[in-house]
Amino acid sequence: MKKLIALLLCLCLMAGIVPALAEENTRPGAMWINSGIYGTYEGRGEIRLQDDYAAAVNREWAETVSIHEGASNASARTEQTDNYNRAKLAVLKGEKKDDPDLTSLQNFYALLLDWDTRNETGLQPLKPYVEDLMSVSSTEEMTKYYSDPERNIFGTPMVEDELMYHPEDALINILNIKGMKMLVTNTDELKPGAEEGVDLTAKRLTADYMLKRLGYTDEEARAIFDNAKEFERKCQPWTEALIARYATGDFTDYIPIADFESRYKNLPLAAIYRALGFDVQGYVCTLSANMLDGFEANYTDENIEYIKAWTLVNTLLDFTRYFDRETYEAAAKFQEPVTGTGSVKSDDAYALEVMEAVVPTMLDQMYVNYCFNKEIKPQVTELTRMMIDAYRDMINEEDWLADETKAGAIEKLDNFKLYICYPDNLPDYGSVTIGTAEEGETVFSAIMKGRKFLNKVEATALTMKNDGTYWRYDNYYSTLTACYIAEENSINVYAGICGGDYYDPDWPLEKKLGGLCMVIGHEITHAFDTKGSQYDKNGNKKNWWTEEDRKSFQERVDKLTAFYSKLVPMPQVSDETYGEAGAMRIKSETIADLGSLKCLLSIAKKQENFDYDLFFRQLAINQKQARYEPAEKAYVATDTHPVEAYRCNIPLQNYDEFLETYHIEGSDGMYLAPEDRIRVW
Ligand SMILES: [Zn+2]
Repeated sequence: MKKLIALLLCLCLMAGIVPALAEENTRPGAMWINSGIYGTYEGRGEIRLQDDYAAAVNREWAETVSIHEGASNASARTEQTDNYNRAKLAVLKGEKKDDPDLTSLQNFYALLLDWDTRNETGLQPLKPYVEDLMSVSSTEEMTKYYSDPERNIFGTPMVEDELMYHPEDALINILNIKGMKMLVTNTDELKPGAEEGVDLTAKRLTADYMLKRLGYTDEEARAIFDNAKEFERKCQPWTEALIARYATGDFTDYIPIADFESRYKNLPLAAIYRALGFDVQGYVCTLSANMLDGFEANYTDENIEYIKAWTLVNTLLDFTRYFDRETYEAAAKFQEPVTGTGSVKSDDAYALEVMEAVVPTMLDQMYVNYCFNKEIKPQVTELTRMMIDAYRDMINEEDWLADETKAGAIEKLDNFKLYICYPDNLPDYGSVTIGTAEEGETVFSAIMKGRKFLNKVEATALTMKNDGTYWRYDNYYSTLTACYIAEENSINVYAGICGGDYYDPDWPLEKKLGGLCMVIGHEITHAFDTKGSQYDKNGNKKNWWTEEDRKSFQERVDKLTAFYSKLVPMPQVSDETYGEAGAMRIKSETIADLGSLKCLLSIAKKQENFDYDLFFRQLAINQKQARYEPAEKAYVATDTHPVEAYRCNIPLQNYDEFLETYHIEGSDGMYLAPEDRIRVW
């Protein structure tokens, strides 16, 4: 049906009949399509650069690209991901070298793909762990189980954690316990007799399958899952308090360690973490203490059967990929209604996915040592410094800022920690040695080594300062990442993003600026967006603005959000706008795109014979996108970035250099009158 409407609409456009659009012509982007929707060019007539730049530049690519099976889109991002995955696989399958870490990774890869051995072993390795867990008969014993990494293969006391920044001194790390590992995502499912949704059903079927493979009867398996659910039902009042707090937007609790220890006594989280190697002190952070309070209140001997069942089910669900083929495929099949696609991957994709989860730091090092052109790092470092210099000039020229505010901004720029491509020094985390099958290694033993190592890395990082000596422990630099971290005041541009449509060392400056430098400038601008601008040079939340400048900043942001709220992100599909809520969600990313382009244009201006066309085209190519319509809808509804086509068109139409390059005038779709322009920087 929707296709039919879309088709009718394009026929109307082709015939020169523009229904309802004439009067809407005043809304921003009225002549654009969302060119990132897969298949959207079908039956469309010519699209001029002057009317819809992103659609015109990326048309040929979009009309010929294919989307991988099981994926929802293709883009510059997915293509570069394919590039580095191919490179990693070639090394993993390649010749052995005198490098113990590489040998470990190659052994791991071989073990993962040896399905014959894995099928023979089945779920056997799990049995002693499950028996051990099910023999627990009190919370005191349960606490011992959680505290022993040799017994508790899940690795934590059934919570998710990461490191956060100390609330008063961002140089210091603290432990953030994000919350319990929950089975139920919708608390309505906990009501007696309530139907279980697709997600919970998938979990039940998976756990049931694994439990029966482990020798439990139908009835026992059902009882274990019911008991696991019952534990969450007992915690429900606290979970609901947590949900209520989420709605307020203020849900992070920083609890001084002494308070934390007296608050969690039944469930001694601090002691358990210490036993697991974490030197917890200062503060512990939690995303709303309500949930941990519920765990604490229900951590009683009376509930021990429920706690055990809950621990077992969550542990099994975490290990579905690590045994035989039958379990992997069964779990993938149960997941299908949740993901919408089959989640069985090709062997190579599967192996990489597991290795990324279990030995990410080793994979990063392998990429840098064997796949990455080392000449790129000094080049990207130099380009980043050039952009920081241009940004400094740009700030100095902002006529709406007082000198005092300018000084605060420049102080931030001058104190950026630059994490470019890959770290030169690694902390002494040690490494993992993974042997061959002949040496007695199994997938399960390798996975356990990797998981323990990851815990050790995190525990080590907890004691380290964020002073720039080392990169953050979970910055995985062989992935496609660039980011600004406000709490570190760091610009991060990883090796994984330095290829494909983003970067080539042999490119002319124009393409480098339109590609990776646009990304770098975007990250720099995040230091001065609505969030970043509240943090100082050390990453502490501290005001460096005069009151008046802050007001002007807010007025500029308000004009920008008003503009975006009127945009229609999927005009071919519906005339629904981003609205106020949508504009609020994407505002930081739009500020970043606009600020970056301004900085790049100031660099371009200083070049001789700068090829603006080449530069602008590269910028559009980086935003090429072909996403299935349902996925695009979900993207529009949830992502913090605007749709890619608009990430290209809107920044460009705000600058005269672009309009002049293509002789764009008032009646052209890309034209934006000076009074309507929305630059924050
Ligand atoms: Zn961003």
